[in-house]
Amino acid sequence: MAQSLDNIAQNYTYVFKSKISALHAEGRYRTFATLKRRAGEYPHAESYGSDPMQDVTVWCSNDYLGMSQNPVVLGAMHSALETTGAGSGGTRNISGNTRYHIELENELADLHGKEAALLFTSAYVANDATLSTLVKMMPGCVVFSDAKNHASMIAGIRHGGGEKRIWKHNDLADLERQLQAYPLSTPKIIAFESVYSMDGTMSDIGAICRLAREYGALTYLDEVHAVGMYSPEGAGLAAAQSVADQVDIINGTLAKGYGVMGGYIAASRDCVDAIRSYAPGFIFTTSLAPVLAAGALASIRYLRAHSLERAVHKDRAREVTKRLLEAGLPVMQNESHIVPVSVCDPVHCKAITDALMSRYRIYVQPINYPTVARGTERIRLTPTPLHSDADIDHLVMALSELWKTCPLALSEGKGMAAGCHIENSSSNSSDTLTAVK
Ligand code: PLP
Repeated sequence: MAQSLDNIAQNYTYVFKSKISALHAEGRYRTFATLKRRAGEYPHAESYGSDPMQDVTVWCSNDYLGMSQNPVVLGAMHSALETTGAGSGGTRNISGNTRYHIELENELADLHGKEAALLFTSAYVANDATLSTLVKMMPGCVVFSDAKNHASMIAGIRHGGGEKRIWKHNDLADLERQLQAYPLSTPKIIAFESVYSMDGTMSDIGAICRLAREYGALTYLDEVHAVGMYSPEGAGLAAAQSVADQVDIINGTLAKGYGVMGGYIAASRDCVDAIRSYAPGFIFTTSLAPVLAAGALASIRYLRAHSLERAVHKDRAREVTKRLLEAGLPVMQNESHIVPVSVCDPVHCKAITDALMSRYRIYVQPINYPTVARGTERIRLTPTPLHSDADIDHLVMALSELWKTCPLALSEGKGMAAGCHIENSSSNSSDTLTAVK
């Protein structure tokens, strides 16, 4: 019997509700904190939670250097807005190509020592559009993808429709073993990141490029969590390791270290021209607003000329790591600016971050599956040059107090979740946790 239209509509609703229920059951339903950032006061902001409004300290932003607040960046954006208006008005091909875009692409090419660069509306789009287009252009292409690559690279590789081989995270022996399985004539791309944002691990870019040369592969490097922050001019980790010239395609964002928005690739003129000409994610979408391009250009130029932000950033990250380790917290130690604290359980992770917010006015978003693998849930702290000594004291005190309620974790050296008993005094009953793992 034909279903009525009402029944069909109910079936759709049932699908949505059951998908959401599954997330609740696993304890990884996402809620977004509503923030109002106050210009000039970052990392302090207003949060709209169960209370009408409260002041919070943000410890999980990817505005790593606070460049979203930099007066030079703001000045450039104000000026572009006044001069040119709000939007670009079209795709790059149809009326949306401005001198702001060209100047920014020239600057990015120069920053990375490449012949050309190409802007996208985000680094996600840049990864997806570039990788998928590369694979489609080279029939039979095999992509060798690091196991911890970001979702945007995974999406691009999948959309390319070619063969994918996953190599163990940062394991060059495994990468080489997999490369050996293909003849030299097979087109290959090695896709990897420089700084892995959830663990803070870093790749040996030079060694990967050597393998690429030996086995005839192109290298595609995501520097999203490194641009602005590593090397004397902020050109990223490949530049810091003095191997940027060996990488074929560098991907970056204008949203994190540079504090604005947008993404890009930098590569040879021919490669950029091919992507510009064939990638639907570049062609069929409105170009970046000129005001964003102007802000990003100012931010890049500022960070090429000033290293203080980078120096203080490193110092803050080291200090937070040291202080948390002294307090006995399970910091996942690494050489980067990211400070992950292992929790290993999605429910505990959320309870801890809820308690940080409601009791201590500290905003940290829990990091659960699918952002990280199940069982490796964590708190990811991102110190900035703008976090003061007092902010760090407060964070360490808060996490230590919560940690003291987890005596088993201390004795077993596990993540914070083991034996955790966090009772939350806030009015928000959903953040009360008494579970013992
Ligand atoms: N690549 C990596 C490794 C990322 O972590 C992210 C975002 O977090 C992106 C790409 C996407 O960057 P964007 O925010 O510019 O889209």
